[in-house]
Amino acid sequence: MSTAIGIDLGTTFSVVAYLENGKARVIPSSEGGNLIPSVVAFIDGGFQLTGKLARAQAAANPIRTIASIKRWMGSDKKIEIEGKTYTPQEISGFILRKVKREAEAYIGEKVEKAVITVPAYFNDNQRQATMDAAIFARLDVMRIINEPTAASLAYGLHEKDLQHILVWDLGGGTFDVSILELGQGVFEVKAVNGDTHLGGDDWDQKIMDYAAEEYVKIHKIDIREDRIALQRLKEASERAKRELSQKPLTNIRIPFIDQGRDLEISLTREKFEELSCDLLEKMVTPSKQALKDANLTAKNIDRVILVGGSTRMPAVQQLARELFEMEPYKDINPDEVVAVGAAIQAGVLTGEVNHITLVDITPLSLGIETMGGIFTRIIGRNTPVPTTCGQIFTTAQDNQTQVDIYILQGERALAADNVSLGKFNLDNIPIARRGEPQIEVAFHIDANGILQVSAFDLHTENQKSININSSKRLSRGQINKMLEEAERYAADDEKRKEHIQIGICAEGMIASAQVVMEENLEILDKFQIDEIEKAILKVKAALAQGKSEEMKLEMDELRKIIEIVCSEIRDKKEKRKKMAHSKIGVLK
Ligand code: AMP
Repeated sequence: MSTAIGIDLGTTFSVVAYLENGKARVIPSSEGGNLIPSVVAFIDGGFQLTGKLARAQAAANPIRTIASIKRWMGSDKKIEIEGKTYTPQEISGFILRKVKREAEAYIGEKVEKAVITVPAYFNDNQRQATMDAAIFARLDVMRIINEPTAASLAYGLHEKDLQHILVWDLGGGTFDVSILELGQGVFEVKAVNGDTHLGGDDWDQKIMDYAAEEYVKIHKIDIREDRIALQRLKEASERAKRELSQKPLTNIRIPFIDQGRDLEISLTREKFEELSCDLLEKMVTPSKQALKDANLTAKNIDRVILVGGSTRMPAVQQLARELFEMEPYKDINPDEVVAVGAAIQAGVLTGEVNHITLVDITPLSLGIETMGGIFTRIIGRNTPVPTTCGQIFTTAQDNQTQVDIYILQGERALAADNVSLGKFNLDNIPIARRGEPQIEVAFHIDANGILQVSAFDLHTENQKSININSSKRLSRGQINKMLEEAERYAADDEKRKEHIQIGICAEGMIASAQVVMEENLEILDKFQIDEIEKAILKVKAALAQGKSEEMKLEMDELRKIIEIVCSEIRDKKEKRKKMAHSKIGVLK
């Protein structure tokens, strides 16, 4: 069997690792270092660059250089370069191809299989897009796993007793919090949260602003207005930030920054932490929300793992100590820990490592639109995957021969407020009254988190299904926004849903009353028919007015009348039966 690799396909960098004699090893890049920039560039002559070379020429060739493509995975964004159009999957595919080549050159044999990591909040489309990228790179994806899960694997936490792990991943541009439960070889992602606009870049910006403003104080010139000076300032600020992770003081020096003058200032770690305390503060709310979603408190957390280059900042580590009252795990290089975990998972799948199972969860509820535009959940949020759930549905109209299955993701009560993932229809339903056909709608999420939805007519055994790979992107930011909205509008949504349900109930009631009349025409007298028809008209009038309370009142009235009429019908039928029997008796 060829070697299987683990790939952390990151927003700014990708890292690749593999198992060598049972131990995970990060593969150094032929261009130096272990991090392969996730950058693709097109240059004159139709050539394409990937990795360090692509990043190095980015400033000179910005239009034909593509960075941070991960943010677009699963979307329908198209990248146009010199008349050619690329999808995010293809661009990611170029990065994976480069990663694969680097691994093959280092290991010295062909690499065909890989485990690729994605953020825990990636939706089905984003996961599917990642799989498609691997196909472009001719890599066989053994499994897509969540980044925080990979980090826990890297620390060997699966070998310990049941525990709760909190993973903080603070990279260049994003902050992710994940809470996992693991024990006896089983991992379960309990909750995910974060901030899509918080990362090392924001800390760089604080230093840039401070240095630039200090310069203004002395020279009355804002160097940020000069594009080249700004770029130099950014690089120097990032260097200073890294240095302050090691030392209490750093000097920022940029020669000839403006009119032959140098920028020269010193910055203490204390001052840097004071400048950036609001950024640190932003890590608290998502962490608390994740704990709340997982039904846990900080005291229930047994381990904290730090992932991402920015967790090297002492203030971040200190915040972790204070919030969770423990020393966080940070021994494995935070840039490499995810790739190391992916390599271990690859080992699990090739049989080199035993006794680990992975269980992930759905970040948002999945379901379908039902009558009246109501969102009916099939798989709840935070359900461990793989999973299969189904429900039986029926038709809304008499003689309906087709049902539309609209698949949605979200937490809102009404379908229109959630995100559409796709739709299909099941036809050839035999003619029947509303409510009679039985259609089972089943949702299946596989171990990679890919969703398959099927509709099955229990009567005809007709079946149709789709895999969700439409190009709807749902970023973690959107997920958070949807969760917030669901909470904010919960009471309102409930009211709207109840209103719709009363309407559906009222229509159902009218239909039943009509059936009662049609089927008992020769038993009912004129007075009864009149009474039912009047009550039906009143329900219809209330429906037209759209007032819930009146609908309920009139519906109750109609229900009472139907109940009385039905019991009178039963009595009459009983009497007729008895009469018939007694007649038979007489004859005998
Ligand atoms: P990642 O996306 O995980 O590679 O994270 C990259 C981010 O980590 C960038 O913003 C880097 O500036 C930051 N970073 C890397 N090393 C350090 C360090 N020693 N101290 C502070 N930030 C760092």
